[in-house]
Amino acid sequence: MNFYYNLNIHNTRSVYYIKSGGKRLGLREEEIEAIISPQEIRIFRLSCKILGKTLNFPGIMCLHNDARGPYKGGIRISNDVDIAETVELARLMTLKTAISDIEFGGGKTGITVDWNYLYKLYDRRPIDIQFEKIVRLDIVEYLAQMYRDTFKNHIYVPAPDLGTGPEEMAFIYNETLDPASVTGKPEGVHGWLPGRRESTGYGCAFITKKFLQECLDRDVQGSTIAIQGFGNVGSHLAKYLHEDGAKIVGITDLYGGVYNENGIDIPALIEYAKKNGTILGFGSSNLTNEELFSLSVDVLIPAATGNVINSEVAKNIKAKGIVEAANNPITLDGMHVIEERGIPVVPDIIANSGGVIASMEEYSRSLSALKVKKEDVFSIIEEKLQQGFMDSLKLSKELNINMCESAIQIAVERVYMAMKNRRYI
Ligand code: NAD
Repeated sequence: MNFYYNLNIHNTRSVYYIKSGGKRLGLREEEIEAIISPQEIRIFRLSCKILGKTLNFPGIMCLHNDARGPYKGGIRISNDVDIAETVELARLMTLKTAISDIEFGGGKTGITVDWNYLYKLYDRRPIDIQFEKIVRLDIVEYLAQMYRDTFKNHIYVPAPDLGTGPEEMAFIYNETLDPASVTGKPEGVHGWLPGRRESTGYGCAFITKKFLQECLDRDVQGSTIAIQGFGNVGSHLAKYLHEDGAKIVGITDLYGGVYNENGIDIPALIEYAKKNGTILGFGSSNLTNEELFSLSVDVLIPAATGNVINSEVAKNIKAKGIVEAANNPITLDGMHVIEERGIPVVPDIIANSGGVIASMEEYSRSLSALKVKKEDVFSIIEEKLQQGFMDSLKLSKELNINMCESAIQIAVERVYMAMKNRRYI
C-alpha cells in the first residue's frame, strides 16, 4: 500500500468494506490488496481545438480490474474530477459488475473542465446548453482519437456518466466503427439498445420499490421521495416513481431546487429542464441541497454526485431510508453515522447498476439488427437487480452488517475467484 500512499487513493469507503469482507472470507492481506489496487492508471492531457481555440484538459483513465471481463465504466466530464475519485469510481465498477453478475470488469475515465473559465474565455453567459454540448462532444471526439485502440480492441468499453450522454458515445463509435466498442449509443446508431438511456433510472426506481417493500414495509403508492440531481438518472428515476404513484416532494440540481409537499408535476418538470438546462425557476418554492437532505420523507435518493452526505449532513437526515443512485454519495464517515442511526441504505453498486446491466445487453447484441424490446431489457434489469438486492439483504441480516458491506463482500468473493482462476493472485 505504501506505493500508492501519496496518491491517497486507498482511504475510501469501498476499500474499507473490501478489507472487512476480504477478512471475513479468509483472504490473505496481499490478495485483498490486489483486489483493491488498480491494474493500470493512465493520466493524460487532452489537447482539443474547440471553436477556434486550442485548450488542454487534464484527465485520467483508470483500468481497475479485468479479471471478470473487459474494463467497463463511464466517461465523466466535470469540474471536480480528480485521480482519487476516478480510481474509486473504477473500483466501484469492478464491484458493481460482480454483484450484478455480468461479465465485465471495472474502469472509469474522468476529464476536468472548468466551466466558469470556459464561459469567460468564450464570452458566453451560463447556462448555454448548446455551447456546453459543443465542448463535451469535442472533448469526447479527441478522447476517442487518443484511445482508439483501447476502445476498438474492447480492452475498455466506455459508457456515459456525469456530463456525457448518448451523443458523446456516438462520437466514439465514429472513431472505432465498432458497435461493441462503446455502450449507451443513441437510437439508430449501429448496435444501440432500446431502453439503455432510461436503464439506470428505471433500475433505480425498481430497486426503490423493492426497498420500500422489503425494508420499510411501505407501498410505492403515496410514498414520499426526495431526489438530488435531475440529469439522466434523476429525471428517469423520478418519472418511473411518479408513474407508480410515489409523491416526489423535493428535487435539487446544481443550480437550485423545487419543493411541493403535494408532489411535483414530474412530466412538466422534465419538459422545463429540457428547455432550460436546469430545474431552477420551476414552480414557486425553492429548495437548497441542505434542506433537501433534511426533508422528512420515506426515501432520500442522492442522484447527482459523490461525497455529498458526510457525517454532518448524515446527522440531520430525516428520511426513513436512502437509495444511492449516484456513485458514492455517502462518505465513509457519513455511512458510520447513518448506520448508528439505523437508517437502511441500498448501496450504489446495486441501486444504479441498471445501466451497466443494459450495457451488457447492448455489448452482447451489438452485431444483431434484431432489436429487443425495451420491456425485455427492463425485465433483464429487474431479474439481475432483484438477485443482487436479495442476496445482499440476506447476507446483511445473517452477519448483522449494512447492505453496502454485504454487497461488497459478495462482489469481492466473485472477483477473487476470477483473479485466482486467471492466476492474477
Ligand atoms: P447528469 O450529468 O445527466 O446529471 C447530473 C445531475 O446532477 C444534474 O441535474 C446536475 O445539475 C446535478 N448535480 C451535479 N452536481 C450537483 C451538486 N453538487 N448538487 C446538486 N446537484 C448536482 O449525470 P447522470 O448520468 O444522471 O449521473 C448522476 C449520477 O449517477 C452520477 O453519480 C453517476 O456516476 C451515476 N451513474 C450514472 C449512470 C448513467 O447511466 N448515466 C450509471 C450509473 C451511475
